[in-house]
Amino acid sequence: MIATKGLDAGYGKLQVLFDVNFKAEQGAITAVVGPNGSGKSTLLKAIAGIAKIFRGVVEIGGVDATRIAPHERARLGLAYLPQVKNVFQNLTVEENLRMAAYHLDSREYKERLREILEVVPIGGLLHRRALELSGGWRQMVAVAMALIRGAKYFMFDEPTAQLSPKFAEEVLNLVKKLAEMGYTVVLAEQNAKKALEIAHSCYLLVSGKVAYEGPPSGLLARADLAELYLGIKSI
Ligand code: ADP
Ligand code: MG
Repeated sequence: MIATKGLDAGYGKLQVLFDVNFKAEQGAITAVVGPNGSGKSTLLKAIAGIAKIFRGVVEIGGVDATRIAPHERARLGLAYLPQVKNVFQNLTVEENLRMAAYHLDSREYKERLREILEVVPIGGLLHRRALELSGGWRQMVAVAMALIRGAKYFMFDEPTAQLSPKFAEEVLNLVKKLAEMGYTVVLAEQNAKKALEIAHSCYLLVSGKVAYEGPPSGLLARADLAELYLGIKSI
């Protein structure tokens, strides 16, 4: 579980988020939607420890992580997958994975890799250099690296941006599978329609404040919110 309580956050002196109470449950997809500049990425960055927290609390797996350094949050099981992916371009996919598995001996590594390749379809790419891969495949590699490192909480920031519709589908299937496997998944998306289709609960951010929280169906039924802020015709 990931949560924030009374979170004010931003950059330098700029406050972007105002009193955000957020909760992402285990085994579910929690979508964060809202207009461009509403603070979706900032919320993920504050949880990951790379935006400034002015006030409030961040909890990761029930642990108060507000004052914990970013790399220590990774040790708590947090995987933050930003738009620029944390993959070493000059290494092969396999070398990237091996590096993420620094804590495993080679037998454990092989075992874990086999399990992960059943979830993330990158088995055919192990010997390719990361820089030869498209953004979508690099994203898959980043997910595999997080899994091999033992992450439990996944935060995706616009994972389908700039992907072909077919590949976007593939990535969202992987996101769904992670939730089904019991991982906690936060999905920040500009493409609200797609995110709300697969999410179990959602937050609408408007100017850094939570304007809606609850099931996606409730948001889609609110013409004043869905149409005005997301450009989705309400149902
Ligand atoms: P979203 O992801 O919803 O589009 P962001 O969280 O990226 O919105 O941005 C929210 C606000 O914070 C915007 O006004 C943006 O200009 C500002 N902002 C984002 N990143 C930084 C940064 N590194 N330094 C200063 N301001 C930033
Ligand atoms: Mg963003």
